[in-house]
Amino acid sequence: MSETPYYISLKEAINIAHKSPLSIETEQVSLDEAHGRILATDLFSKVNDPPFDNSAMDGFAVRFEDTNEAPTTLSVVATSQAAASDDTISISTGEAVQIMTGAPLPKGADAIIPIEACTVDGDSVTLNQPSKPNFIRRCGENIKQGVVGLKEGSHLSPQSISMCATMGYDQIPVVKKLKIGIISTGDELKSPGETLSFGEIYESNSYGLSGLVKALGHIPIRYPSVVDSIDDLRRQFDQASSECDIFLTSGGVSMGEWDFVRKLMEEEGNIAFWRVRLRPGSPPLFGHWNETPMFGLPGNPVSSHVVFRMLVTPYLRRSLGTSFPIDRIVHAKLLTDVRSTNDCLTLRRVTLRSTREGFLAEQPKHQGSGNIDSLSSADGLTLLQPGQSGKTGEWIEVLLL
Ligand code: AMP
Ligand code: MG
Repeated sequence: MSETPYYISLKEAINIAHKSPLSIETEQVSLDEAHGRILATDLFSKVNDPPFDNSAMDGFAVRFEDTNEAPTTLSVVATSQAAASDDTISISTGEAVQIMTGAPLPKGADAIIPIEACTVDGDSVTLNQPSKPNFIRRCGENIKQGVVGLKEGSHLSPQSISMCATMGYDQIPVVKKLKIGIISTGDELKSPGETLSFGEIYESNSYGLSGLVKALGHIPIRYPSVVDSIDDLRRQFDQASSECDIFLTSGGVSMGEWDFVRKLMEEEGNIAFWRVRLRPGSPPLFGHWNETPMFGLPGNPVSSHVVFRMLVTPYLRRSLGTSFPIDRIVHAKLLTDVRSTNDCLTLRRVTLRSTREGFLAEQPKHQGSGNIDSLSSADGLTLLQPGQSGKTGEWIEVLLL
């Protein structure tokens, strides 16, 4: 077993984990399947967008020099519609072409008068205001052919999928979704829906972690929870490491007699770090089992969520070469005292209210790390640096949930 760094900062922990990133595979998908995926290469536009000069308004295409005084009457010589196949339409002095939004600009025209500023009378049109050379969308003004429209690592949001289509792609290369195993551990755990006996609680972490994995666009594989037994854990670790790209455990990583995840990793796995200066969530470990990366998350429900957000998410982000998901951090003024610590980054659960003064943060629930209600009813997590006061009135950083 390698030497185990002990009680390191979050930054150090992330850096250690980054030394063994996941290996990433790519695949082609159709645009219909691309939502939420990560783009695997830079994407160059195959076309100019727009591909031709066209009108931004319904109205009349005119010559600017004919129409810089109002009123002016012109004769209407043709109509240009969107998808017009006739590219021979042109105007000369004293002429106008009726034009629809998106339709090609006739040759000779260099201004558009919106329909609202015109009076039409048979084959002539009177412009009630002088034209300006505007309302024309020029060829390539959005993006030029051959220019990178989306960078490798982009998160494919609805708007970036529209961008792919605009650039002419029907298939795009994306990073393959990761299979992420989730193993909860503990003798006391029962599945929701079953009847609890004395001493038992409902297993909740694997469901929350599964949701976090899905929110990042990957595939959670939720294994049945494992009792506190080295042999059972070993069997489950073997299965997860052969079926998944990475796996997460919850529970069993503290100092106790029954913290078998830590014990098994110490004796038979490879631990890169254990214990991070993070509150809640201080005993997480990261290492490898049969070469497969694994994060051992603490069992307390709030802690397992916090550690996923603070450690697993940055690890996946860096491994996949993406900045998604961006940590959304706001500044907020504290309406209640929030207890900080001297040595840890402290993440308390707060609700937020948006006011003219900015965000106001309140801590309405007790902050036990077993209290999932404090997390499910919160809007954000405080990012209190070691030693920061956390007193009422202080402006602090809050990570949005
Ligand atoms: P551990 O880290 O195993 O000592 O667990 C710490 C606390 O978290 C204990 O109170 C456990 O009962 C609780 N816990 C552990 N795993 C889970 C789980 N999967 N769902 C809900 N609570 C859990
Ligand atoms: Mg346990």
